Order: sequence, then structure tokens, then C-alpha cells
Amino acid sequence: MMRIDVATLFPEMCQRVLDESILGRAARKGLIETHCHQIRDYTLNRQRQVDDYPYGGGCGMVMYAQPIYDCCVDVLRQAQEQGRPRPRIVFLTAAGKPYTEQEAKRLAQYDGLLLVCGHYEGMDERVIEEIADEEISIGDYVLTGGELAALVVADSVLRLQPGVLAEPQGYQEESHWNGLLEYPQYTRPEEWRGRRVPEVLLSGHHGRIDQWRAEQSLERTRQRRPDLYEAHKQEGKEKS
Ligand code: SAM
Repeated sequence: MMRIDVATLFPEMCQRVLDESILGRAARKGLIETHCHQIRDYTLNRQRQVDDYPYGGGCGMVMYAQPIYDCCVDVLRQAQEQGRPRPRIVFLTAAGKPYTEQEAKRLAQYDGLLLVCGHYEGMDERVIEEIADEEISIGDYVLTGGELAALVVADSVLRLQPGVLAEPQGYQEESHWNGLLEYPQYTRPEEWRGRRVPEVLLSGHHGRIDQWRAEQSLERTRQRRPDLYEAHKQEGKEKS
């Protein structure tokens, strides 16, 4: 059963999100475990200060290496006490490896992940060098902190764990699983504001429905994400 830890200056915010909805239900059923840790609790100064001015000048503040490191070491100790293997330590940074569904599938194979969130101008580089196994960026934009990025990673990885989604293997039909975007979805009523559900979906003919969905998925990907479409075509050629 996978365990995800988040090291952050905003543990309550992160835990509230993880305890909601599908992931919260899965945790209460004992299918996954999530724990959020306050980096500030590991400071050694009286003011519990977590950041300081950058060497060399420049704007903003940089998070100290020490409290982040000590927080990570404490999480490693907790995992060891549970008899678990060492969790994979992932720092969320704007300069990290771009995150995709393929990365989610890869990270989902670990017994545990420790997601480390920066804030302000970022973290002292030495703590990343010292303890990170990898750095991940959730996209080519800058957030005020790593919390939303950590929640994106936690959510996309935890939904792949056995039993978390109501439908077993339900995630395999969704966008990005096989490198394509998903076909359009509809629910009741059959007509809404003059727009009808495509007739084929009402036909009850599963073969035709599957074929329509496959075509829609391919066409959507071609129109909206030519980069994914080309990669998919290339993969097909290599396999054949
Ligand atoms: N000075 C850093 C830079 O230019 O790369 C940006 C620091 S950002 C304001 C503060 C924190 O937000 C970072 O330490 C990181 O944890 C997080 N963050 C910002 N953008 C991110 C992204 N695209 N993916 C993952 N984490 C991000």
C-alpha cells in the first residue's frame, strides 16, 4: 500500500486536499496513506525562521537547507520504522523534469514518495544535491510554492493505486494513458439545448461504439495535440 509524504510550509492546506473525495475515501479504507509535515518544525533557531537573503544578492528569500534536510531524514526514519523501503525523494522545482502521465506511472511503482515543496525564491541548492533523488516540474510556468505541484503529483500517482478508483483499471481509458486524448463523453439527457448525444452511443452496439470512440480519440489528438499524434503514429510504425 503506497505512502506519500509531503514536506511543506503549509501541511494543513495539503492534508485537507488529500483527505477529500476519492483520495480521502481511499485513505480511510486503508488503500493509501498520506502524511504532510511542517518544515518549520525542524528549524533550530528561536524565531523558527525558514529562509534568508540569497548570497550574491537578488530579490526574494531562499529556504535554508537544514530544516528541509532534517524533515526529510525524519520521514525516512518513519518509513523505516514501518518496515518500508526508503521512499523516493522528489523535489518540486520549476527547473525539474517535465511531468507527464508516463512519469506518474513510473512514480506509482514506488512503495513511497516524499514530495518536497519549496517556497519564496526556492531552496538552497545544496539540500537538493544532498538528498533529492529527482526534481519534477509540473509545467513551464512558475508557482508561488511547490504545494500545488506536490498535490498534482500525489493525486495523479495515488489514483493509479489498486482499489482507489471505483472501476478497476478505469484510468486506462482516460486521456494520456496510451498517449492519446480521450473521446468526448456524454450523460443524460439525450438532448440538451438542442444538442443531441451522438446516435452511435445510443445504439447499444458495443463494437460500433468502441470504433467511434477510437476514431474520436485519434481525431481529437490530431487536431488538439499534433505533438502527441505524431509520437503515437511513430510508436505504431516502430511496433509494426
Ligand atoms: N526561483 C525559482 C526559479 O526561478 O526556478 C522559482 C521559485 S518558485 C517562486 C517557489 C517554489 O515553487 C519552488 O521552490 C518550487 O518548489 C515551486 N514551483 C514553482 N514552479 C513550479 C513548477 N512549475 N513545478 C513544480 N514546482 C514549482
